Amino acid sequence: DLVKDEDLEIITDLGAGNGGTVTKVWNKKRNCVMARKLILVDAKPSVRKQILRELQIMNDCNSPYIVGYYGCFPVDVHVGIVLELMDAGSLNDIYRHIGPIPIEVVGKVAEAVLHGLMYLYDVHRIIHRDIKPSNILANTNGEIKICDFGVSGELINSIANTFVGTSTYMSPERIQGAPYTIKSDVWSLGISLIELALGRFPFTDSQGNEEEEEEESDHEEFDEDATLPLSTQRPKLPVPSSSDNKKEKRKSKGVSLAGGGHTMSILDLLQHIVNEPAPKLVSKRRTYPVEATTFVQDCLYKDPNDRKSPQELLASDWISKSKVTQDDLKTWALSTIQKD
Ligand code: ATP
Ligand code: MG
Repeated sequence: DLVKDEDLEIITDLGAGNGGTVTKVWNKKRNCVMARKLILVDAKPSVRKQILRELQIMNDCNSPYIVGYYGCFPVDVHVGIVLELMDAGSLNDIYRHIGPIPIEVVGKVAEAVLHGLMYLYDVHRIIHRDIKPSNILANTNGEIKICDFGVSGELINSIANTFVGTSTYMSPERIQGAPYTIKSDVWSLGISLIELALGRFPFTDSQGNEEEEEEESDHEEFDEDATLPLSTQRPKLPVPSSSDNKKEKRKSKGVSLAGGGHTMSILDLLQHIVNEPAPKLVSKRRTYPVEATTFVQDCLYKDPNDRKSPQELLASDWISKSKVTQDDLKTWALSTIQKD
């Protein structure tokens, strides 16, 4: 039986995005913590009912790579969705907090996302449509799962009506108006993986220039052992007290409509994605295994026909030869939390 809003007591805020706010809640009936997302839906009652009906598909989405679903209900002008709490947060939160993600962990992120995408498509014929670091979540059990996939057409429509949903993880063919395919999700995965490995969004007005490399030095204290085997990594020192300023700075960098000195306007960015070569997994500060750079390149062919499928990518060396275990991921996830 599904969770109701009256079963839930608010504990704390987990984050907010364009369309919603997420809260950590206590479920009094089941005696456990959960995550409740409230999405503002500015639509008439019939549409809201339709959305709630469509969301029921999530009931049947059972996979170790998909964030668990416990129920949904109307909450005044919102639609509430109750989800499994992922206690290490999103990969976006994690890298903004601790800096670049070790490349071995990024490989496991890729594997989990691909399994999740294949499950959604093969079992439910669902295309995710919104792969990005904030929709990839981790927990201290060493699991990585995806959330916020496009189950409800009505929900997609009503959110698109309330704000401009221009995604910067969007593939060149989508920007040019082609319909979504699973290959568009593969592109978004490629962009996300580079972002996690570099610790910054990969598109800039002059890709990989000095200034960007300099900004990365915010994370210098974390970088040195980023390529060591996981088992040898120690929990790291707390971030210096100036980290809050840096966090603020980081939040406002990359793509911003406000357009600070070094950022691209959204239109420049979309034009760049369509017209310029795809980004690569390269950094002046770090080297990456060739299996990783090849994998990312295979995700980022601009022609979707050249781009590899999730099946092909799962069979690649980077994924199939990874030695990282779930225990390693547990240790890593715990270390990201202990940095508070
Ligand atoms: P956007 O709205 O642009 O897609 P977003 O994905 O960050 O951005 P939300 O989906 O509303 O926006 O999520 C907000 C934040 O809440 C996420 O970045 C993540 O940190 C946190 N979050 C979401 N779902 C969960 C969950 N199940 N467990 C733990 N944290 C979560
Ligand atoms: Mg999200």
